[in-house]
Amino acid sequence: MSFKLAIVGRPNVGKSTLFNRLVGKRLALVDDQPGVTRDLREGEARLGDLRFTVIDTAGLEEATDESLQGRMRALTERAVGMADACLFVIDARAGVLPADEVFADILRRKSAHVILAANKAEGNAAEAGVLEGYGLGLGEPLRLSAEHGEGLGELHAALAPLI
Ligand code: GDP
Ligand code: MG
Repeated sequence: MSFKLAIVGRPNVGKSTLFNRLVGKRLALVDDQPGVTRDLREGEARLGDLRFTVIDTAGLEEATDESLQGRMRALTERAVGMADACLFVIDARAGVLPADEVFADILRRKSAHVILAANKAEGNAAEAGVLEGYGLGLGEPLRLSAEHGEGLGELHAALAPLI
């Protein structure tokens, strides 16, 4: 059984960008499997010597304001239930928003292993947002830039003991 990592967090923090960076073109192979819904995508990730399954929570972007929080919660709880560990992504440029606190609450209650990552952390503009991440009570945030491929060594170091 492959180790499963769920990438969770509110829309627009860069979850799918990270998923695509970890999975690359291998998604096509798993996308056709039964049970893989539009809202949860699974792919086979490679990170250095590590091989694991990664789950992307998607499909929330089209939700209306009223239903967004409920859908995010339900989808996240489902992903957390399937996963061995969660990568909780916040946007270092936006800082910690109220929606991020909702995810932090779910993860504190439901997930055995949570790795906090502050994405979009390239450059100096993001440092204030990274520091806000400490306030979530989930440990030191990894500084990631999914778009630029930065921080992947630290992600490897955080995952290697778990896999
Ligand atoms: P998701 O909704 O969490 O899946 O977020 P997406 O992966 O769709 O990304 C949302 C937006 O953030 C897109 O415009 C991405 O190009 C951008 N983005 C993702 N990662 C980074 C990053 O590391 N740095 C910056 N500056 N932008 C990023
Ligand atoms: Mg996405």
